[in-house]
Amino acid sequence: MIRYYNQGNKLTFSNRIKLIKPSSTMALTSKANEMRQNGEDVLVLTVGEPDFDTPDYIKNAAKDAIDAGLTKYTSVDGTPELKKAIIGKFERENNLSYQPDEIIVSAGCKQSIFNMLQVLIDEGDEVLIPEPYWVSYADMVIYAGGSPIMLHTSYEENFDISMIELESKISDNTKLLMINSPNNPSGKYFDRKTLESVADVLQRYHENIYISSDDIYEHIHWHQEKFHNIVNVCPDLKDRTIVLNGVSKAYSMTGWRIGYAAGNADIIKRMKTLQSQSTSCASSISQAAACAALTFECKELPQMKAEYKKRHDFVVEHLNKINGVLCKETDGTFYVFPSFKDYIENNESLKDDKDLAMFLLNEAKVAVVPGSAFGLDGHIRLSIAIDMKSLETAISRITSILS
Ligand code: GLU
Repeated sequence: MIRYYNQGNKLTFSNRIKLIKPSSTMALTSKANEMRQNGEDVLVLTVGEPDFDTPDYIKNAAKDAIDAGLTKYTSVDGTPELKKAIIGKFERENNLSYQPDEIIVSAGCKQSIFNMLQVLIDEGDEVLIPEPYWVSYADMVIYAGGSPIMLHTSYEENFDISMIELESKISDNTKLLMINSPNNPSGKYFDRKTLESVADVLQRYHENIYISSDDIYEHIHWHQEKFHNIVNVCPDLKDRTIVLNGVSKAYSMTGWRIGYAAGNADIIKRMKTLQSQSTSCASSISQAAACAALTFECKELPQMKAEYKKRHDFVVEHLNKINGVLCKETDGTFYVFPSFKDYIENNESLKDDKDLAMFLLNEAKVAVVPGSAFGLDGHIRLSIAIDMKSLETAISRITSILS
């Protein structure tokens, strides 16, 4: 007989797990997929997952790895071959130089971020996060015992971080600033000038604050400036910056689960200790595939990027035609993050962006993520990592239901 953990008995859960909620992107995607399985014609614009297949040269490297018997545990921090490929990638694409003990491979960039927070954050520590932020940042910080401290931005002010606010939110407890550029969900790229101002604040007075630079959308970037992260802009911050990246988004490899972190060898060593006690290592076969992805030229990448840009232009143009909707052009990523504030305000049956997302799901059969999941109410995030035909149908359904 199955006994459930419920009323009256003494079997309880940790206090930690009660503090966090399921990831909204994952939860809404499961709900939409469930509706599809039940025969409903739902278009899923929730999850940020490229619709393209993983390129053949990458899949072939995985098949070769299986045939060669590379099916065992690897070193906790990744195979020497993959770490070499990551170091080569940083040199070639980012002009950054790392040693093998400054790199760790994990099961996705998400695990790298989680491990980093577990290693750096203690009870009472504060972590600065610009809004809007990727759904998991805040919960991961809370799970590590820290407090997320948001830096407010707005659609009207182009999602720019205010340096005055940054300064004012720094306290003796501030441990880390989390940067994600191009940003999920806004598509905003923090240009050189912005990063220089952030670096200036951190360098002048605050030498005990770490920085994380989540560069996962580096290759899906169409800002006029070449991609830079904060270490490129201010090399003096390298020792206290953890650069996070992975192969999921650029190479259409979400299910392979390979991400990595680069930073000071002491931090990486501790992330390795944690990983040795949790997952041991990332999948050996996926590591071989990621090694190929990062070593050889990916001819499909420019085509995928061009396709995302085409979809972006289409969606931005059409959403802006709906009364009460404002949709900014992004600098990259495969998301758009329009403001529906006026639309919601002028519509009595909608209380907020969550209501709007439910309305779109139930009435238009289009699944999207409410902006409040990313810390900005009144917005909706649409993933454009879906084929153009489905996207056209989704936009036409949204337009007709809202007009
Ligand atoms: N990062 C993607 C997203 O924001 C994948 C889902 C997730 O892990 O949140 O949709």
